[in-house]
Amino acid sequence: MTKPRIGILGAGQLALMLAQAAQHLNVDVVCAGRPGDCAEQAAPVLPVDLEDPIAVRTFHDSVDVLTIESENVETSVLADLPHLAPQAQAVRIAQDRLFEKDFLRFNGVATAPYAAVNSLRDLHVALDTIGAPSILKTRRLGYDGRGQVRLTHADEASSAWAHTGGAPCILEGMVNFDLEVSLIAARNQRGQIAFYPLTHNIHRNGILRTSIAPYNNPTLQTQAEDHMRHVLEKLNYIGCLAIEFFVKDNTLIANEMAPRVHNSGHWTIEGSDTSQFENALRAMLDMDLGSTLSRPTVMLNCIGAMPPESETALFPNLHRHDYGKVPRPGRKVGHLTFPASETATIAEWQRRLNHLT
Ligand code: AMP
Repeated sequence: MTKPRIGILGAGQLALMLAQAAQHLNVDVVCAGRPGDCAEQAAPVLPVDLEDPIAVRTFHDSVDVLTIESENVETSVLADLPHLAPQAQAVRIAQDRLFEKDFLRFNGVATAPYAAVNSLRDLHVALDTIGAPSILKTRRLGYDGRGQVRLTHADEASSAWAHTGGAPCILEGMVNFDLEVSLIAARNQRGQIAFYPLTHNIHRNGILRTSIAPYNNPTLQTQAEDHMRHVLEKLNYIGCLAIEFFVKDNTLIANEMAPRVHNSGHWTIEGSDTSQFENALRAMLDMDLGSTLSRPTVMLNCIGAMPPESETALFPNLHRHDYGKVPRPGRKVGHLTFPASETATIAEWQRRLNHLT
């Protein structure tokens, strides 16, 4: 029997970890990217212009299933691709903060108060209702805190609007949250769904630093799974989906969703019976989904640079994932995973990683 072949638009660390998971499943992965992209360590990377619909169509036609590594892909190139998972509709919603919030609200998922802002005048009107503190976010192409300006007072409107360069935005009320969590789930073509436990996420400067799983709260786990199931079914979604939530007074307020494997699920490689990467591939190939039985695990992101290998090697239960990327301030270059019981080791590595960035 010929091996199934999955194509990924993108060849960064998410594609790399999908390609590594594919090796266990006897599945071929091929990525569309540029020479030197980090997925090259585990899969062929072909040069494909991701803005050229004909090039993307040709790549799509050469694989059994096509998927994306980032939601920031032009959806015009995704239209009418029959083997795309998740489908273009889910990507279109998830890549635009206004569509995303409208979709979540319409489907009964609470969000922060928000309003569309297309001009300085709109911003003044939005500030009248939402008030400050609030955050002006570009609707598209914002991630890891990019494309965002925080307003502490309404008189900062002009400078905030200038900062966004006039791009279509939303103004979002600031949520005084207790903590942030995410839920990741996979759904296959037959509608089977596998949920991971809620993960507690700690960000600094808008970038994920630490994920701790599970976040044990049966009430919120059930609520989050109900929201997730509803969203997955509404979109007839295939693959992995992540929803990030703020927790405030033991209720969930959705922040955003990602139509792909997610940084807050990297701990599943060691911490769960089946990683998010393997379950994403299983879902796309309509295989049975693997068990998500999980062990308490902590993941620390390495931002800017990896710690020296000679140091990490001294910690026997530490799993080091080096994406092989060129160090650069603010860049996610790898992550470390530990059993959550090793609190002393985790604190030590948090300290060391904070020194690096
Ligand atoms: P985002 O790019 O929207 O995921 O935002 C990155 C991070 O900024 C989030 O994980 C939060 O820590 C913070 N943030 C974003 N939106 C809000 C909000 N409405 N209220 C409070 N914090 C926020």
